[in-house]
Amino acid sequence: MAGKSLERYAWLSVATGVVVLGLKTLAWYLTDSVGLLSDALESTVNIGAALVAVFALRAANRPADAEHHFGHGKAEYLSAMVEGFLLLAASAAIIATAVNRLLSPQPLEQVGIGLAISMLASALNGVVAWILIRVGREHRSVVLVADGKHLLTDVWTSAGVVVAVGAVALTGWERLDPIIALVVGANILWTGWGLLRDSVSGLLDERLSDDDIDEVVAVLAAHESPTVHFHALQSRAAGRQRFVSFHMLVPGSSSVRAAHDLAQEIEDEIDARLPETVVSIHIEPLEDPRAWGDIPRGAEHPMHSSRTRFDEGPVSG
Ligand SMILES: [Zn+2]
Ligand SMILES: [Zn+2]
Repeated sequence: MAGKSLERYAWLSVATGVVVLGLKTLAWYLTDSVGLLSDALESTVNIGAALVAVFALRAANRPADAEHHFGHGKAEYLSAMVEGFLLLAASAAIIATAVNRLLSPQPLEQVGIGLAISMLASALNGVVAWILIRVGREHRSVVLVADGKHLLTDVWTSAGVVVAVGAVALTGWERLDPIIALVVGANILWTGWGLLRDSVSGLLDERLSDDDIDEVVAVLAAHESPTVHFHALQSRAAGRQRFVSFHMLVPGSSSVRAAHDLAQEIEDEIDARLPETVVSIHIEPLEDPRAWGDIPRGAEHPMHSSRTRFDEGPVSG
């Protein structure tokens, strides 16, 4: 599925956010609970985040052009970063409101109907979260998975708020309401921090996942022989786009054609296992000491993910 269709799912998330915000605001208005207010405020973040996701998917989907030779995939990280900042802002508003209410507690009203509305909103969020995560995983969209996970955490916080507000109604302990709002605020702060951390790491060219690197290493290991050696494996991702590069050492007497045929074969095998991967192979003569001394920091021997190791072949320099 192209980014165009993925965009539809981001719009689904926007629409859900608007409906859920309406329902949760109504629940807060009826009950005057800051716990439910914190839940409603969180929904405004969802709408903003979903809108940013729409534009990020649109930008990331644009093909490479004369100005951006490697495509626009990193736009997805910018979206996740904006979402992180929005979450931090929402958590600040929630914590401030909760502290105020903690200092001057107030009774809650119409708790039954308020909670029923809130639960309806959460059910809606839960269904859409499930759809977004499923579609996002299938199409390797950082944006959709992040949005879905975000909605899923909302379902859990809403459940906590509903239980707490119900407990306030039963026990009459009014301070429990702002206390649960503080817990919600702290959880949102944590989620926002995580999104910021991940998006910054992506923008700084974090290597591919262990799963992806294991696939590449498996292909290389199958081609390793006394006359073919690999080193300097480097990788990075730009949203859905993957980039892999490494050196392939062959006898200096090999023809350009033979070396390129092998490189092409390896590129095809990697592409079959990891679609949308750009592979760059630097070919070097085994006998040349310069070929062995050019491994960049961070890509030293042996090539491996954090799980598997690709030990040096029978040839060493
Ligand atoms: Zn070529
Ligand atoms: Zn090299």
